[in-house]
Amino acid sequence: MATTKLVLLTFAICRLIVTVGLTVDPTELLRLVVEGQLSLDPSDVDTASKDFGLMSRAEPLAVLHPASAQDVVGLVRAAYSSPLGFTVSARGHGHSINGQAQTNNGVVIQMSGGSSRSGTPGQAARVSEKGMYVDAWGGELWIDVLRSTLEYGLAPKSWTDYLYLSVGGTLSNAGISGQAFNYGPQISNVHELDVVTGKGELLTCSEEQNSELFHAVLGGLGQFGIITRARIALEPSPQRVRWIRVLYSNFSSFTKDQEFLISLHGQPTSQKFDYVEGFVIVDEGLINNWRSSFFSPSNPVKITSINSEGGVLYCLEITKNYDESTSVTIDQEIEDLLEKLDFVPMSVFTTDLPYVDFLDRVHKAELKLRSKGLWDVPHPWLNLFVPKSRISDFDEGVFKGILGNKTSGPILIYPMNKDKWDQSSSVVTPDEDVFYLVALLRSALDTGDETRTLEHLTNQNRQILRFCDDAGIEVKQYLPHYTTPEEWMDHFGDKWDRFYQRKMEFDPRRILATGQRIFSPSS
Ligand code: FAD
Repeated sequence: MATTKLVLLTFAICRLIVTVGLTVDPTELLRLVVEGQLSLDPSDVDTASKDFGLMSRAEPLAVLHPASAQDVVGLVRAAYSSPLGFTVSARGHGHSINGQAQTNNGVVIQMSGGSSRSGTPGQAARVSEKGMYVDAWGGELWIDVLRSTLEYGLAPKSWTDYLYLSVGGTLSNAGISGQAFNYGPQISNVHELDVVTGKGELLTCSEEQNSELFHAVLGGLGQFGIITRARIALEPSPQRVRWIRVLYSNFSSFTKDQEFLISLHGQPTSQKFDYVEGFVIVDEGLINNWRSSFFSPSNPVKITSINSEGGVLYCLEITKNYDESTSVTIDQEIEDLLEKLDFVPMSVFTTDLPYVDFLDRVHKAELKLRSKGLWDVPHPWLNLFVPKSRISDFDEGVFKGILGNKTSGPILIYPMNKDKWDQSSSVVTPDEDVFYLVALLRSALDTGDETRTLEHLTNQNRQILRFCDDAGIEVKQYLPHYTTPEEWMDHFGDKWDRFYQRKMEFDPRRILATGQRIFSPSS
C-alpha cells in the first residue's frame, strides 16, 4: 500500500515537472497524491513564497502538505532521481527573514500547519514520562509541544523567546533564549532525530546512531535533510516565574553582572537564576514610554532621571522559576542574588506569573502589533554572536554610535557559555568561552520618518557589519544570510570543509534548502 502511494506521488511529481505551466490539471494532481496533498493552489503558493522578513519572494511550483514522513521521502526521492531534478525546501512556520525556506521552481514542503498535523502529522506529540522526553513531528510548533508535555507536568528545558516557531526550523539554526547559558541551545537538548536526507533515505540518528548526520543536521540550516521527528529532553515543569528587570547606566557593570550570572550555571538551582537576558534602550521614545504594564507605576525610580552614558540604558532581565515546594524560599534566594549585582539603586521591577505565560510572552506582543497593523511589515533583522572580549567595543561603536537615538525595535543582548554548545554540530559561534547574542529586531515602516524605512535600516545593518570588520571584531551571524560562496566559506571558517563534505554525502544533488543560498543544485 505504502509503495503504491509512493509510486503515485512520484508519478504526480514527474508530471508536474514536465507539464507545469502547460496543461497541468491541479485537481488531477490532488487525486494522485493519496496520503498528503500536493497543492497548486495560488494561496498556498503565495504563502510559501513569503516569510516573516517580507523582504524576499520566490515562487515554488507546488506545495506539499505531507501526511507522514513517507510523503517527505516520496517527494525527495522523486526530486533526487528525476532527470531534470528539482529543489525541495522544508518550510516550518516561515519565520525566516531572508527567504531561507523558499525555493524557486521547486516544491516547498509545508511542515507546520494546524493542530491536526502535530506529533507525526495527525497525532499529538508523544511524551515519555519514564524517559523524560517528547517525540514531536518536525513541523510541530513549540507552543504545541509545550501544551502536550504540560499534560504530564513536564516541559522542554531550552527555549526560544517566541513559541510559534517549528521544531525543525529552530533546530536547523540553534534555538536560543535566556536558558541557553544553563542548558545550552535547543540543539543541545535533542536525543534523537528522524531525518529524510537529500537522497530520500529516512534515517534515525543520534549521538550513537548515524552520528555524522545527527551533528550535521543540528544547526545545519536545512542543508542535509528534513527533520520529520525530534526527541526532545524534558524536565518537570515549574509552575510560576518571578520575572525581574533591573537597569544599568554603565555598560561594563551591566556586562560584568550578566557574565557573573551565567558563570553560576554549575551551581544548585537555588543559587542561580533560570533565565538571563537583557536589552539596550537607546530610543528616546522607548525611554519615555516604556513604563509598559510590566513596570509597576508605584516604583519610585524615574527612568528619565537616570543619568545614562551617551543616552543609552541597559536592562538586565532575569527570572526565577518556582512551585509550591520552593515558594517559601524564593524571596530570600532572589534577594541573595540581587545583592551581588551593581544595578541602579531602586530600579528593580518585578512581576509574577504562570510559567506558560512567561514562555509565551512574545505572543502577547504579537497580538498587540497585529491589531495595529504592525506585524506584517518588513523585518530587516540582524542577529550577531559577538565575542566577550570585544563587546564593549561593539557598545561604543554600535549602541552609542551607529544607532543614533532611534532603534525601530527591540535590541537584545545576553551572554552564553560556549561549552554548552556541541562543537560537532554545524552551527558556528565565535572562538571564545563566552559570547553574546546581539539581536537587532527592527521593523521597517513607511510612515514618512526616513529613519524607519527599510532602506535606512538595511544600510545601518551594513554599516554595523562593516564597523565590526574594520575594527577586527570577529562576529558570527546567527540565522546567517549571505549571498556568495566566499562569504559562506568565511562564515564557516575551519568548519567549512566538514560542512561541504557532509553536504556531498547527504545531499549530493544539492536540492535541499536552496533558499539559504549556500549551494546551487547540480544537474
Ligand atoms: P522556517 O523559516 O520555516 O525555516 C527556516 C529554515 O529551516 C529553512 O532553511 C528551512 O528550509 C529549514 N527547515 C524548516 N523546517 C525544517 C525541517 N523540519 N527540517 C529541516 N529543515 C527545516 N530564534 C531563536 O533562536 N531564539 C528566539 O528567541 C527567536 N525568536 C524569534 C521571534 C520571532 C518573532 C521570529 C520571527 C523569529 C525568531 N527566531 C528566534 C528565529 C527563528 O528561530 C528562526 O527563524 C527559525 O528558523 C524559524 O522557524 P520556522 O519554523 O519559521 O522556520
